[in-house]
Amino acid sequence: MKKPHPLPLSRRERGGGQRQKKGLLVVVSAASGAGKSTLCRRLMRHRKNLIFSVSVTTRLPRPGEKDGEDYFFVSEAAFQAMRGRKELVEWAKVHDHFYGTPKHFLDRMRAQGKDVLLDLDVQGALAVKKHFPEAVLIFIRTPKFSDLERRLRSRSSETEAEIRRRLQTARRELRFAHRYDYQVINDEIPKAEKRLDKILKIETNKHK
Ligand code: 5GP
Repeated sequence: MKKPHPLPLSRRERGGGQRQKKGLLVVVSAASGAGKSTLCRRLMRHRKNLIFSVSVTTRLPRPGEKDGEDYFFVSEAAFQAMRGRKELVEWAKVHDHFYGTPKHFLDRMRAQGKDVLLDLDVQGALAVKKHFPEAVLIFIRTPKFSDLERRLRSRSSETEAEIRRRLQTARRELRFAHRYDYQVINDEIPKAEKRLDKILKIETNKHK
């Protein structure tokens, strides 16, 4: 016997209706020195609905960095305890330190319809995409690889060994750029910011 055709679900049953629309999940990755932090800060200044996801890390704060704003700076024991309690959406070891994305904040902000911006390394970005296929992955790069080295040296906050290590990581991470939804060249900050802004507009309109 032919199975009766199921009735289409109502809007409410589909989860539509009056429910708050979830915000965008935007993941940005780049090699250190590519201008990612500056771009993220400028973008958030203009897009009031875009909130930064503050990660937890075991590395020490750099001069000027604030606990709870740039990162939550925690001990390794505290980090592992969070991992154990499954409080992190993803985590990674980058340059000898642990970094992780707290789940609670992400869920809460998105449920309120806020767009969330995550600054993650490649492992983290791909893990988030696996978890949340709707996440928008953006890879920021400099026009030439040599620009990275120049920028890293000019900010002089790292030792020579650290610079070399960061360049090595950058070379490795660049190989994953094609797996991102978008790649943005940071030739000039205002231009790159406009490109990012346009991407967020496109993605917001997609989900309207
Ligand atoms: P930095 O120490 O320069 O602030 O960050 C080093 C790297 O760690 C950057 O590539 C940054 O994107 C990445 N990172 C920061 N927070 C997280 C996180 O929560 N998870 C992952 N996977 N990477 C992160």
